[in-house]
Amino acid sequence: MNYFVGVDIGGTNSKIGLLNDQGDILKSTSIKTDSIEGVDYTLNKIWETVLEMAEELDISRDLIKGIGMGIPGPVIDQKKVAFFANFPWEKNINISEKMEEISGVKTRLDNDVNVIALGETLYGAGKGYSKSVTIALGTGVGGGIFVDGKLISGATGAGGEIGHMKLEKEGKLCGCGQKGCFETYASATGVIRETLSRLQINKTNGVYKAIDGDLNKLEAKHVFDEAKKGDEFALSIVDYVAEYLSMGIGNVLNIINPDVIILSGGVALAGDILLDKVKEKLPNYALAITIENLKIKLGELGNDAGIKGASALTI
Ligand SMILES: [Zn+2]
Repeated sequence: MNYFVGVDIGGTNSKIGLLNDQGDILKSTSIKTDSIEGVDYTLNKIWETVLEMAEELDISRDLIKGIGMGIPGPVIDQKKVAFFANFPWEKNINISEKMEEISGVKTRLDNDVNVIALGETLYGAGKGYSKSVTIALGTGVGGGIFVDGKLISGATGAGGEIGHMKLEKEGKLCGCGQKGCFETYASATGVIRETLSRLQINKTNGVYKAIDGDLNKLEAKHVFDEAKKGDEFALSIVDYVAEYLSMGIGNVLNIINPDVIILSGGVALAGDILLDKVKEKLPNYALAITIENLKIKLGELGNDAGIKGASALTI
């Protein structure tokens, strides 16, 4: 039996898993990324942790055949990171080479959302399909496109950045500096932004009550919870989000024509109340032929999607 390592590097913590070649997690743990200490420090700490886990599982280190990593930034050729979002590490570091020097094990990396997409496609909601698009609806909107056995990472590592697809000319301002991006409407941040603006005018609703009138407490979850209870104010926001979500998904369908769309992240937890509306509106934006056999599913792996997908990069 051969074994593989999956690492999900985050701003604060990094998740590390030791898996078999079927994507089963045999052991996993979380360590502080401590990116401030430098890239070599972090990579060494990750490898030391892997060795500790292998020892606990009584797995010989020469049976570890690959290390895969999910990185918060654009990754080129699964080796080099163009830049790290929110890390004090230099640009264009060849992490693959560095990790191989430290560990002696083949190392490949990809963008963190691409890696989640790979995990969901191979081992979760997309199992059995050869063409999938995973849309992570969290603080922003991330995307991972998987076609015929391969992730579409792009020439400079920005493949699958569907959160910055434009849905409005002169639309809401995005963190990327441009306007009208998908993520300004369909992310949790987008939901909060729209709700806050409506709460300025309407205070007689379930959402205002749920946060005791304290706008700082507002989370996207409040809106979805109240919508599930039938609150009209919350339902109209869900409808607004569903409209943009359908438009974004419709554009993706027309370009990629996948078998399955996998929705993950916090906003996806809204579940059927959002999904039913999206399915209803989708024919307004997607060519009929792209919806014929389409499956729209919620992610199934939760927080394990990252390390599962990362481990598959070297299998
Ligand atoms: Zn943008």
